[in-house]
Amino acid sequence: MLNKMQKKIFIVFDGIDGNGKSTQAELLKNYLEKRSFNIFMISTPSKSEYGEKIDNLLRRKEATRISKEKWLELFKQDTKEVVKKIKMAFEEDNIVICDRFYYSTLAYQLDEEEWQNYALQFLMPTITFIFDVPIDIALERIKKKYKITKEKRAFFEKLRILRKVRKKFLLLPNYLKDNIKIIDGNRTIHTIAKDIRKEINILLKK
Ligand code: ADP
Repeated sequence: MLNKMQKKIFIVFDGIDGNGKSTQAELLKNYLEKRSFNIFMISTPSKSEYGEKIDNLLRRKEATRISKEKWLELFKQDTKEVVKKIKMAFEEDNIVICDRFYYSTLAYQLDEEEWQNYALQFLMPTITFIFDVPIDIALERIKKKYKITKEKRAFFEKLRILRKVRKKFLLLPNYLKDNIKIIDGNRTIHTIAKDIRKEINILLKK
């Protein structure tokens, strides 16, 4: 059990779809739970009314007709809801793990000059892992995953968009003050998990 002195640790996994972030988020959760930490896990889009709306739109044809402003508004409202939940989780001494956060909005919806101001509206994570994988590998993984889950491919999961967005994710450390670690996601699940644990153990010792 954690005592009341447990500091607020907020861990984010982000990057293009199919890079393995959900897999690693789950592994880290299990690892930390085995070490008796309380974990609050959340993802964006979340289950808020805005998140549900985004989720719904992402897999529909109308997605192409939605303006940048509309997407941005939905993501902004959803992220605000997520921040509220995270703050509540801290009150209960949880370590928070978030699968996608404002970094996706920056990379998918916004230009570099807009990034810092957008990010400042929310809550800066303690550490952010941006997973990087070649697009063809990400798409291959998405295809395999959806064969199992029967989900439809989301609007943004297209070669042209993913290429551009991958580059933008890699630029994030140049524009933000956040503690961002770029992780090579094109390795085995086990090797990546070891790297993540190393970083988290450094944080826990601080
Ligand atoms: P994301 O959350 O980034 O979309 P997932 O963690 O859901 O990615 O992974 C997508 C698919 O790729 C899943 O089927 C998962 O089992 C597989 N996968 C995840 N990490 C790796 C890896 N390092 N090497 C090979 N396959 C992976």
